[in-house]
Amino acid sequence: MTGAVRAFIGLGSNLEDPRRQIRTAIAELDALPYTCVAARSSLYRSDPMGPPNQPDYINAVAAVDTILTPLALLDALMGVERSHGRIRHAERWGPRTLDLDLLVYGDRITSDARLTLPHPGIAERVFVLLPLLEIAPDLEIPGRGRAAALAAVLPDGGIERLKSDE
Ligand code: ADP
Ligand code: MG
Repeated sequence: MTGAVRAFIGLGSNLEDPRRQIRTAIAELDALPYTCVAARSSLYRSDPMGPPNQPDYINAVAAVDTILTPLALLDALMGVERSHGRIRHAERWGPRTLDLDLLVYGDRITSDARLTLPHPGIAERVFVLLPLLEIAPDLEIPGRGRAAALAAVLPDGGIERLKSDE
């Protein structure tokens, strides 16, 4: 695709067969208009962030090449979340069938009511940075520095890379 931008999507699920939710979501990302998946990380198991009385998460990161605008891509991601039966509750960081976060979109830095780029949680979340580094070890997060440097100062633990996707 001429003029395509490389973007990174964080995927997370902790309900209703999370591994299947993530695998099918990656296929659905590849099927989005004007968008193809260029790389995907392994699956990771991570401790839940926020309310502790919820199941562990399965996380992954996908790299996509797209000519969708950032907001069109965000809308498409929310459509995929809805197709997985995601119901938004008042509780922040509660359990969910599928969460898709737009982590990075090229070198774009922006902040408005609907979309902050890079994603504001990126530097604190080991379950984002580890899978991201697996597929983009040299990535520079716009305005934040190298992903590897951000990961190096986070505490170890709470996450494990799953050996196989099965
Ligand atoms: P969280 O992922 O923090 O649990 P949600 O998935 O419910 O929360 O997203 C809450 C809102 O965050 C969405 O309505 C969306 O408009 C906004 N948002 C802002 N920046 C981003 C981004 N980079 N990626 C995804 N959502 C974003
Ligand atoms: Mg989200």
